[in-house]
Amino acid sequence: MPEEEQNSNPATLAPGLYLVGTPIGNLEDITLRALRVLRSASLIACEDTRQTQKLLNHFGIQTPVISCHEHNEGQRIPELIAALLRGERIAVVSDAGMPGISDPGMRLAEAAIREGIRVYPVPGPNAALSALVASGLNTECFLFCGFLPAKAGARRSELERLAAGTAEGTTLIFYEAPHRILETLGDMKAIWGPGCRVVIARELTKMHEEFLRGPIEEVAATLKGRERIRGEMTLLIEARPPQKKSEQSSISDRIAALQNSENLDEKAALKRIARERGLSRSEVYRELQRERGRS
Ligand code: SAM
Repeated sequence: MPEEEQNSNPATLAPGLYLVGTPIGNLEDITLRALRVLRSASLIACEDTRQTQKLLNHFGIQTPVISCHEHNEGQRIPELIAALLRGERIAVVSDAGMPGISDPGMRLAEAAIREGIRVYPVPGPNAALSALVASGLNTECFLFCGFLPAKAGARRSELERLAAGTAEGTTLIFYEAPHRILETLGDMKAIWGPGCRVVIARELTKMHEEFLRGPIEEVAATLKGRERIRGEMTLLIEARPPQKKSEQSSISDRIAALQNSENLDEKAALKRIARERGLSRSEVYRELQRERGRS
């Protein structure tokens, strides 16, 4: 137990801000300390009060809750800081996992530290680390990248930036939505090549927990073969040097080659290139636009 927490009355908590990890699926993953802190706090600041209330009801915890999420943080943080300065004990939770990790919590922690308020981590489940330790990829050197941009162009640029700046062998960890996973795998394949190793950790700690491990091409084919792609997903990739542009001709050069050799029009050539590179036609078209924008 941290010194300050221990030195205070064991029935209560020391004043301060407690960032509490909560389960990412399996309720058994809550820690004894998390339960004690949630029970003894004066207030729990939640990403979504209804979601947290279910957890609290399950464990018979009656601590009052208040919402604190990205849309009301601007107003809520000063209120919570004022309460903390009065000596309150405030717990912060997100819907699942560790607050502050692709979830609200960071700004409140920053503000509390600025005001000299004691901030206590109460460690608990986290999807990124759970996926990493069971991935079979390098756990000694990894980079947590959170969610990629939703827009295709920005996502591709971010991946290119990561590919250029990450040491070979580093494990990159992303959170990804099931409806975007194939597009993201397509982008990764275009950058790192079809043989690059990826792992998809799906529904961690839940009944349908699953790991898909293998070269990008195989993992993407497995997912494509499914009727529906669903569940919460964490995607990991073993960084290696990006495919050299010389190893893969530009889209416009390949179109020209297909026009010359097979007399294809641009539309048919795009379709062929999509098939050759395991990308969708819209992805190839977007890449062509990016190339044209660069020249
Ligand atoms: N704060 C959380 C943590 O510590 O892991 C992450 C919150 S983030 C908003 C939610 C994303 O985490 C999901 O979209 C998914 O990518 C990943 N995730 C959460 N739970 C997961 C699970 N049970 N299995 C796999 N990935 C999960």
